[in-house]
Amino acid sequence: MALTAPFYSVSVLGRVWLNAETFELICSRPQGFQFLAGQYVSFVYQGEEREYTIISPPEAMELRFLIKQIAGGKMSRKLASIAPGSVFEMSRAKGYLTFCPTERPVYFVATGVGIAPFVAMAAGGTRGFTLIHGTRNRSGLFYRQELSAAALRYIPCISGNNETGEKLPNLYRGYVTQYLKITLEPGCYDFYLCGSRAMIRDMTHFLDEYHPGVRIYNEAYS
Ligand SMILES: Cc1cc2nc3c(=O)[nH]c(=O)nc-3n(C[C@H](O)[C@H](O)[C@H](O)COP(=O)(O)OP(=O)(O)OC[C@H]3O[C@@H](n4cnc5c(N)ncnc54)[C@H](O)[C@@H]3O)c2cc1C
Repeated sequence: MALTAPFYSVSVLGRVWLNAETFELICSRPQGFQFLAGQYVSFVYQGEEREYTIISPPEAMELRFLIKQIAGGKMSRKLASIAPGSVFEMSRAKGYLTFCPTERPVYFVATGVGIAPFVAMAAGGTRGFTLIHGTRNRSGLFYRQELSAAALRYIPCISGNNETGEKLPNLYRGYVTQYLKITLEPGCYDFYLCGSRAMIRDMTHFLDEYHPGVRIYNEAYS
């Protein structure tokens, strides 16, 4: 498999596990590689090609990625064990889920590793947004401290069973779509959706039906 030019050779610098199935992959930043916060690249490695969103801010020296190891997943399994020093091919930066400054209230809504573009935007200096992050359990609330510091409001939505542990401010028990159906006041908003296709479909139907003035930007991962 070959990427259309321009493409870059990238080396793996390290990997940090954030929970049992999700890790940060740290890679070198090739000379001349440019991107906007929220964009993704294609990785080509051992005959497979998949997309991954850069979570580093645009001025970073290294490129960081937040990757979930999928059971039976070809690429994510390879990346979960790729050795530091390994080299693979990466495309130019792609995608349109980048922040457009606006007078409207902004909502970022993510499920799972769909938080990735919002991590990059927050690290790149975007502020004033409400962030709603849906996960099955609290170990999936990646970068919670950094994101709650950057956000106007940070709402974790946990859909799995009750867990014990530190009390989380603004915690909602249920899905992100349920939370918004209950709480969203009529108004004109900009919504950014990222993560599972099911969440994006539900959110889009709900917003179109009950909040026709909203603008929606989205990126589906699965
Ligand atoms: C624009 C874009 C950006 C993306 N950014 C990221 C990112 O930053 N981090 C990240 O981890 N992933 C991201 N993805 C998803 C990523 O590209 C791969 O699809 C994912 O890593 C699975 O690839 P795989 O080769 O491991 O699994 P595959 O071998 O392709 O699939 C194995 C099985 O798992 C199922 N499957 C695939 N994806 C998922 C999923 N997410 N959840 C549950 N089951 C799944 C498949 O249907 C299949 O049955 C992005 C996708 C897109 C389109």
